[in-house]
Amino acid sequence: MNQKMDVLIIGGGPAGLNAALVLGRARKHVVVIDDERPRNWVTRETHGFLTRDGASPRDFRKVAKEQISAYPSVHFVGDTATSVTGTDGDFQVTTAQGVVYRAKKVLFTVGKKDLPLDINGLKEVYGKSAFVCPYCDGWELRDQRLVIIVNGAKAFHMAKTISGWTSQYTICTNGPDELTDEQREELKQHGVPVWDSPIRSIESNEGMVQQVVLEDGTKISCTGIFFGPKLTAGSELPQTIGCDVTDAGTVVVDEYGKTTVPGLFSAGDAASELYQAITAASLGALTAVTINSELNMEAWDERGKHVNP
Ligand SMILES: Cc1cc2nc3c(=O)[nH]c(=O)nc-3n(C[C@H](O)[C@H](O)[C@H](O)COP(=O)(O)OP(=O)(O)OC[C@H]3O[C@@H](n4cnc5c(N)ncnc54)[C@H](O)[C@@H]3O)c2cc1C
Repeated sequence: MNQKMDVLIIGGGPAGLNAALVLGRARKHVVVIDDERPRNWVTRETHGFLTRDGASPRDFRKVAKEQISAYPSVHFVGDTATSVTGTDGDFQVTTAQGVVYRAKKVLFTVGKKDLPLDINGLKEVYGKSAFVCPYCDGWELRDQRLVIIVNGAKAFHMAKTISGWTSQYTICTNGPDELTDEQREELKQHGVPVWDSPIRSIESNEGMVQQVVLEDGTKISCTGIFFGPKLTAGSELPQTIGCDVTDAGTVVVDEYGKTTVPGLFSAGDAASELYQAITAASLGALTAVTINSELNMEAWDERGKHVNP
Protein backbone atom coordinates (compact mmCIF):
# COMPACT_ATOMS: atom_id res chain seq x y z
CA MET A 1 0.00 0.00 0.00
CA ASN A 2 3.10 2.28 -0.08
CA GLN A 3 2.67 2.84 -3.80
CA LYS A 4 0.88 5.94 -5.01
CA MET A 5 -2.74 5.10 -5.75
CA ASP A 6 -4.60 6.56 -8.70
CA VAL A 7 -7.58 7.58 -6.58
CA LEU A 8 -8.26 7.71 -2.89
CA ILE A 9 -11.97 7.71 -2.07
CA ILE A 10 -12.95 8.98 1.37
CA GLY A 11 -16.42 7.64 2.24
CA GLY A 12 -17.86 4.26 1.32
CA GLY A 13 -21.60 4.95 0.94
CA PRO A 14 -23.52 4.64 -2.35
CA ALA A 15 -21.53 7.52 -3.92
CA GLY A 16 -18.08 6.26 -2.97
CA LEU A 17 -18.90 2.63 -3.75
CA ASN A 18 -20.31 3.35 -7.20
CA ALA A 19 -17.24 5.48 -7.93
CA ALA A 20 -15.02 2.59 -6.80
CA LEU A 21 -16.91 0.20 -9.09
CA VAL A 22 -16.48 2.44 -12.14
CA LEU A 23 -12.81 3.11 -11.38
CA GLY A 24 -12.07 -0.56 -10.65
CA ARG A 25 -13.56 -1.52 -13.99
CA ALA A 26 -11.41 1.20 -15.57
CA ARG A 27 -8.34 -0.57 -14.10
CA LYS A 28 -7.43 2.25 -11.72
CA HIS A 29 -5.74 1.61 -8.38
CA VAL A 30 -8.17 2.75 -5.73
CA VAL A 31 -8.36 2.79 -1.93
CA VAL A 32 -11.73 3.42 -0.28
CA ILE A 33 -11.43 4.64 3.32
CA ASP A 34 -14.65 4.45 5.29
CA ASP A 35 -15.47 4.61 8.99
CA GLU A 36 -19.06 3.36 8.69
CA ARG A 37 -21.02 6.22 10.25
CA PRO A 38 -23.62 6.97 7.54
CA ARG A 39 -26.80 8.90 8.41
CA ASN A 40 -29.10 6.21 7.07
CA TRP A 41 -27.99 3.46 9.46
CA VAL A 42 -30.81 4.52 11.78
CA THR A 43 -33.23 3.03 9.26
CA ARG A 44 -33.97 -0.58 8.36
CA GLU A 45 -34.71 -0.19 4.66
CA THR A 46 -33.61 1.84 1.66
CA HIS A 47 -36.38 2.49 -0.85
CA GLY A 48 -36.55 3.71 -4.42
CA PHE A 49 -33.27 2.19 -5.65
CA LEU A 50 -34.04 0.08 -8.71
CA THR A 51 -33.32 -3.64 -8.06
CA ARG A 52 -32.56 -2.86 -4.37
CA ASP A 53 -35.93 -1.49 -3.21
CA GLY A 54 -36.29 -2.27 0.50
CA ALA A 55 -32.68 -3.43 1.03
CA SER A 56 -31.20 -2.70 4.43
CA PRO A 57 -28.45 -0.05 4.23
CA ARG A 58 -25.93 -2.54 5.65
CA ASP A 59 -26.90 -5.24 3.14
CA PHE A 60 -26.70 -2.68 0.34
CA ARG A 61 -23.05 -1.99 1.22
CA LYS A 62 -22.23 -5.67 1.75
CA VAL A 63 -23.46 -6.66 -1.72
CA ALA A 64 -21.74 -3.65 -3.30
CA LYS A 65 -18.41 -4.60 -1.73
CA GLU A 66 -18.79 -8.23 -2.80
CA GLN A 67 -19.36 -7.14 -6.39
CA ILE A 68 -16.52 -4.60 -6.36
CA SER A 69 -14.13 -7.22 -4.95
CA ALA A 70 -14.18 -8.78 -8.46
CA TYR A 71 -11.90 -5.89 -9.44
CA PRO A 72 -8.52 -6.50 -7.77
CA SER A 73 -7.22 -2.94 -8.04
CA VAL A 74 -9.78 -1.69 -5.47
CA HIS A 75 -9.02 -1.99 -1.73
CA PHE A 76 -11.23 -1.19 1.25
CA VAL A 77 -9.90 0.23 4.51
CA GLY A 78 -11.93 0.63 7.72
CA ASP A 79 -10.47 3.83 9.13
CA THR A 80 -11.09 7.58 9.44
CA ALA A 81 -9.25 10.00 7.16
CA THR A 82 -8.00 12.80 9.42
CA SER A 83 -6.00 15.00 7.05
CA VAL A 84 -5.44 15.61 3.36
CA THR A 85 -2.41 17.52 2.08
CA GLY A 86 -0.57 17.91 -1.23
CA THR A 87 -1.50 19.00 -4.72
CA ASP A 88 -2.91 17.52 -7.90
CA GLY A 89 -0.95 14.40 -8.79
CA ASP A 90 0.43 13.83 -5.30
CA PHE A 91 -1.97 14.00 -2.35
CA GLN A 92 -1.27 12.51 1.08
CA VAL A 93 -4.15 11.25 3.18
CA THR A 94 -3.46 10.42 6.83
CA THR A 95 -5.82 8.26 8.88
CA ALA A 96 -6.73 7.95 12.56
CA GLN A 97 -4.71 4.73 12.68
CA GLY A 98 -1.64 6.70 11.56
CA VAL A 99 -1.39 5.30 8.03
CA VAL A 100 -0.45 7.69 5.20
CA TYR A 101 -1.80 6.99 1.71
CA ARG A 102 -0.61 8.75 -1.43
CA ALA A 103 -2.86 9.28 -4.42
CA LYS A 104 -2.98 11.26 -7.65
CA LYS A 105 -6.62 12.26 -7.09
CA VAL A 106 -8.91 12.34 -4.06
CA LEU A 107 -12.68 11.92 -4.11
CA PHE A 108 -14.69 13.10 -1.09
CA THR A 109 -17.88 11.06 -0.74
CA VAL A 110 -18.21 11.81 2.96
CA GLY A 111 -21.99 12.39 3.01
CA LYS A 112 -23.67 14.71 5.49
CA LYS A 113 -24.24 14.37 9.26
CA ASP A 114 -27.31 15.08 11.36
CA LEU A 115 -26.81 17.74 14.01
CA PRO A 116 -27.99 16.45 17.42
CA LEU A 117 -31.76 15.95 17.45
CA ASP A 118 -33.09 18.62 19.82
CA ILE A 119 -36.63 17.30 20.33
CA ASN A 120 -37.26 15.11 23.34
CA GLY A 121 -38.17 11.58 22.16
CA LEU A 122 -37.24 12.08 18.49
CA LYS A 123 -34.11 9.93 18.68
CA GLU A 124 -36.20 6.94 19.80
CA VAL A 125 -38.41 7.05 16.69
CA TYR A 126 -35.93 8.30 14.06
CA GLY A 127 -35.63 5.73 11.26
CA LYS A 128 -38.46 3.58 12.68
CA SER A 129 -41.56 5.78 12.42
CA ALA A 130 -40.01 9.25 11.95
CA PHE A 131 -38.35 9.97 8.62
CA VAL A 132 -36.89 12.83 6.67
CA CYS A 133 -37.95 12.27 3.08
CA PRO A 134 -41.37 11.25 1.73
CA TYR A 135 -39.80 9.86 -1.45
CA CYS A 136 -37.81 7.44 0.74
CA ASP A 137 -40.51 6.46 3.25
CA GLY A 138 -43.80 8.08 2.22
CA TRP A 139 -45.17 4.88 0.69
CA GLU A 140 -44.78 3.04 4.01
CA LEU A 141 -46.69 5.86 5.78
CA ARG A 142 -49.39 6.29 3.12
CA ASP A 143 -52.88 7.19 4.35
CA GLN A 144 -51.64 7.34 7.94
CA ARG A 145 -52.05 10.14 10.49
CA LEU A 146 -48.81 12.08 10.31
CA VAL A 147 -47.21 15.02 12.06
CA ILE A 148 -44.89 17.14 9.95
CA ILE A 149 -42.29 18.99 12.03
CA VAL A 150 -41.02 21.87 9.91
CA ASN A 151 -41.20 25.65 9.82
CA GLY A 152 -41.36 28.55 7.39
CA ALA A 153 -41.12 28.07 3.62
CA LYS A 154 -40.11 24.44 4.13
CA ALA A 155 -43.33 23.77 6.07
CA PHE A 156 -45.43 25.18 3.30
CA HIS A 157 -43.62 23.17 0.63
CA MET A 158 -43.72 19.98 2.73
CA ALA A 159 -47.45 20.42 3.39
CA LYS A 160 -48.15 20.47 -0.32
CA THR A 161 -45.74 17.59 -1.07
CA ILE A 162 -47.02 15.25 1.63
CA SER A 163 -50.59 15.58 0.37
CA GLY A 164 -49.63 13.07 -2.33
CA TRP A 165 -49.24 10.36 0.33
CA THR A 166 -51.90 11.13 2.93
CA SER A 167 -54.66 13.62 3.62
CA GLN A 168 -54.45 13.22 7.40
CA TYR A 169 -51.59 15.38 8.58
CA THR A 170 -50.81 18.21 10.92
CA ILE A 171 -47.95 20.67 10.86
CA CYS A 172 -46.03 21.43 14.05
CA THR A 173 -43.69 24.39 13.66
CA ASN A 174 -42.13 23.67 17.09
CA GLY A 175 -41.94 27.31 18.07
CA PRO A 176 -42.40 30.76 16.58
CA ASP A 177 -44.18 30.47 13.28
CA GLU A 178 -42.28 31.67 10.21
CA LEU A 179 -45.16 31.05 7.79
CA THR A 180 -46.48 34.09 5.92
CA ASP A 181 -50.13 35.12 6.33
CA GLU A 182 -50.81 33.99 2.75
CA GLN A 183 -49.27 30.55 3.38
CA ARG A 184 -51.28 30.15 6.60
CA GLU A 185 -54.46 31.07 4.79
CA GLU A 186 -53.76 28.59 1.98
CA LEU A 187 -53.05 25.79 4.50
CA LYS A 188 -56.32 26.64 6.29
CA GLN A 189 -58.25 26.47 3.01
CA HIS A 190 -56.79 22.99 2.43
CA GLY A 191 -57.72 21.90 5.97
CA VAL A 192 -54.15 21.45 7.21
CA PRO A 193 -53.92 22.27 10.94
CA VAL A 194 -50.84 24.22 12.03
CA TRP A 195 -49.64 24.17 15.66
CA ASP A 196 -47.07 26.75 16.78
CA SER A 197 -46.51 25.68 20.37
CA PRO A 198 -43.04 24.18 21.00
CA ILE A 199 -42.93 20.38 21.22
CA ARG A 200 -42.52 19.06 24.76
CA SER A 201 -42.00 15.43 23.77
CA ILE A 202 -42.67 12.65 21.31
CA GLU A 203 -44.21 9.62 22.97
CA SER A 204 -43.61 6.21 21.43
CA ASN A 205 -43.55 2.49 22.01
CA GLU A 206 -40.60 0.47 20.67
CA GLY A 207 -39.81 3.14 18.11
CA MET A 208 -43.39 3.57 16.92
CA VAL A 209 -44.67 7.09 17.58
CA GLN A 210 -47.99 7.36 19.41
CA GLN A 211 -48.40 11.07 20.01
CA VAL A 212 -46.68 14.43 19.87
CA VAL A 213 -47.16 16.46 23.05
CA LEU A 214 -46.90 20.25 22.85
CA GLU A 215 -45.86 22.68 25.59
CA ASP A 216 -49.40 24.10 25.70
CA GLY A 217 -50.69 20.63 26.64
CA THR A 218 -52.07 19.67 23.22
CA LYS A 219 -51.62 16.00 22.35
CA ILE A 220 -51.60 15.05 18.68
CA SER A 221 -52.13 11.38 18.06
CA CYS A 222 -50.22 10.06 15.03
CA THR A 223 -48.53 6.96 13.60
CA GLY A 224 -45.71 8.67 11.72
CA ILE A 225 -43.58 11.80 11.54
CA PHE A 226 -41.66 13.60 8.86
CA PHE A 227 -39.22 16.24 10.04
CA GLY A 228 -36.60 18.53 8.56
CA PRO A 229 -33.25 17.52 10.08
CA LYS A 230 -30.46 20.03 10.53
CA LEU A 231 -27.47 18.80 8.55
CA THR A 232 -23.79 19.57 8.43
CA ALA A 233 -20.83 18.36 6.34
CA GLY A 234 -19.93 14.69 6.84
CA SER A 235 -16.29 15.76 7.20
CA GLU A 236 -14.39 19.04 7.41
CA LEU A 237 -11.59 17.70 5.19
CA PRO A 238 -12.72 19.27 1.88
CA GLN A 239 -12.95 22.68 3.55
CA THR A 240 -9.64 22.25 5.38
CA ILE A 241 -7.72 21.62 2.17
CA GLY A 242 -9.29 24.65 0.51
CA CYS A 243 -12.38 23.45 -1.37
CA ASP A 244 -15.23 25.95 -1.44
CA VAL A 245 -18.12 24.79 0.75
CA THR A 246 -21.56 26.43 1.09
CA ASP A 247 -23.04 27.58 4.41
CA ALA A 248 -25.08 24.35 4.37
CA GLY A 249 -21.83 22.33 4.37
CA THR A 250 -22.19 21.25 0.72
CA VAL A 251 -18.95 21.00 -1.26
CA VAL A 252 -19.10 23.25 -4.33
CA VAL A 253 -18.57 21.16 -7.49
CA ASP A 254 -19.12 21.64 -11.20
CA GLU A 255 -21.47 19.37 -13.15
CA TYR A 256 -18.73 16.70 -13.37
CA GLY A 257 -17.86 16.57 -9.67
CA LYS A 258 -14.74 18.76 -9.75
CA THR A 259 -14.24 20.89 -6.64
CA THR A 260 -12.59 24.31 -6.73
CA VAL A 261 -9.19 22.66 -6.06
CA PRO A 262 -7.50 20.79 -8.96
CA GLY A 263 -7.29 17.04 -8.40
CA LEU A 264 -9.99 17.03 -5.70
CA PHE A 265 -13.50 15.78 -6.43
CA SER A 266 -16.70 15.33 -4.44
CA ALA A 267 -19.99 13.51 -5.02
CA GLY A 268 -23.13 12.23 -3.34
CA ASP A 269 -24.75 13.92 -0.35
CA ALA A 270 -21.45 15.69 0.38
CA ALA A 271 -21.75 17.71 -2.81
CA SER A 272 -25.51 17.90 -3.39
CA GLU A 273 -28.76 18.42 -1.52
CA LEU A 274 -30.76 15.69 -3.26
CA TYR A 275 -30.34 13.12 -0.45
CA GLN A 276 -31.29 9.95 -2.28
CA ALA A 277 -29.16 6.82 -2.44
CA ILE A 278 -29.64 6.41 -6.18
CA THR A 279 -28.70 10.02 -6.95
CA ALA A 280 -25.66 9.71 -4.68
CA ALA A 281 -24.61 6.55 -6.53
CA SER A 282 -25.24 8.21 -9.88
CA LEU A 283 -23.16 11.27 -8.96
CA GLY A 284 -20.42 8.94 -7.71
CA ALA A 285 -20.40 7.12 -11.06
CA LEU A 286 -20.39 10.35 -13.05
CA THR A 287 -17.52 11.79 -11.01
CA ALA A 288 -15.56 8.55 -11.38
CA VAL A 289 -15.80 8.93 -15.16
CA THR A 290 -14.48 12.50 -14.84
CA ILE A 291 -11.56 11.34 -12.69
CA ASN A 292 -10.76 8.41 -14.96
CA SER A 293 -10.83 10.63 -18.01
CA GLU A 294 -8.49 13.13 -16.34
CA LEU A 295 -6.06 10.35 -15.33
CA ASN A 296 -6.10 8.82 -18.82
CA MET A 297 -5.49 12.19 -20.52
CA GLU A 298 -2.61 12.98 -18.15
CA ALA A 299 -1.02 9.57 -18.79
CA TRP A 300 -1.54 10.02 -22.54
CA ASP A 301 0.21 13.42 -22.49
CA GLU A 302 3.04 12.05 -20.36
CA ARG A 303 3.62 9.16 -22.76
CA GLY A 304 3.53 11.65 -25.65
CA LYS A 305 6.59 13.41 -24.23
CA HIS A 306 8.61 10.22 -24.64
CA VAL A 307 7.49 9.31 -28.15
CA ASN A 308 10.09 9.85 -30.87
CA PRO A 309 9.06 12.40 -33.52
C1 LIG B 1 -33.27 8.01 7.95
C2 LIG B 1 -32.86 8.04 6.51
C3 LIG B 1 -33.53 7.24 5.61
C4 LIG B 1 -33.18 7.27 4.27
N1 LIG B 1 -33.87 6.47 3.41
C5 LIG B 1 -33.55 6.50 2.11
C6 LIG B 1 -34.28 5.69 1.19
O1 LIG B 1 -35.18 4.95 1.56
N2 LIG B 1 -33.96 5.79 -0.13
C7 LIG B 1 -32.96 6.62 -0.57
O2 LIG B 1 -32.72 6.67 -1.77
N3 LIG B 1 -32.25 7.39 0.29
C8 LIG B 1 -32.52 7.34 1.61
N4 LIG B 1 -31.82 8.12 2.47
C9 LIG B 1 -30.76 8.99 1.95
C10 LIG B 1 -29.51 8.16 1.62
O3 LIG B 1 -29.18 7.35 2.72
C11 LIG B 1 -28.34 9.08 1.29
O4 LIG B 1 -28.74 9.99 0.28
C12 LIG B 1 -27.14 8.28 0.81
O5 LIG B 1 -26.74 7.34 1.77
C13 LIG B 1 -25.98 9.22 0.51
O6 LIG B 1 -24.89 8.46 0.07
P1 LIG B 1 -23.41 9.01 0.17
O7 LIG B 1 -22.53 7.94 -0.33
O8 LIG B 1 -23.33 10.36 -0.43
O9 LIG B 1 -23.15 9.25 1.74
P2 LIG B 1 -23.32 8.26 2.98
O10 LIG B 1 -24.16 7.09 2.66
O11 LIG B 1 -23.75 9.14 4.11
O12 LIG B 1 -21.84 7.72 3.23
C14 LIG B 1 -20.80 8.58 3.63
C15 LIG B 1 -19.74 7.71 4.30
O13 LIG B 1 -18.55 8.49 4.49
C16 LIG B 1 -17.96 8.10 5.73
N5 LIG B 1 -17.04 9.16 6.16
C17 LIG B 1 -17.30 10.47 6.39
N6 LIG B 1 -16.17 11.13 6.75
C18 LIG B 1 -15.17 10.20 6.74
C19 LIG B 1 -13.78 10.25 7.02
N7 LIG B 1 -13.17 11.39 7.36
N8 LIG B 1 -13.06 9.11 6.92
C20 LIG B 1 -13.64 7.93 6.55
N9 LIG B 1 -14.98 7.83 6.26
C21 LIG B 1 -15.73 8.95 6.36
C22 LIG B 1 -19.18 7.91 6.64
O14 LIG B 1 -18.88 7.12 7.77
C23 LIG B 1 -20.15 7.20 5.67
O15 LIG B 1 -19.98 5.81 5.72
C24 LIG B 1 -32.13 8.12 3.82
C25 LIG B 1 -31.45 8.91 4.74
C26 LIG B 1 -31.80 8.87 6.07
C27 LIG B 1 -31.07 9.75 7.05
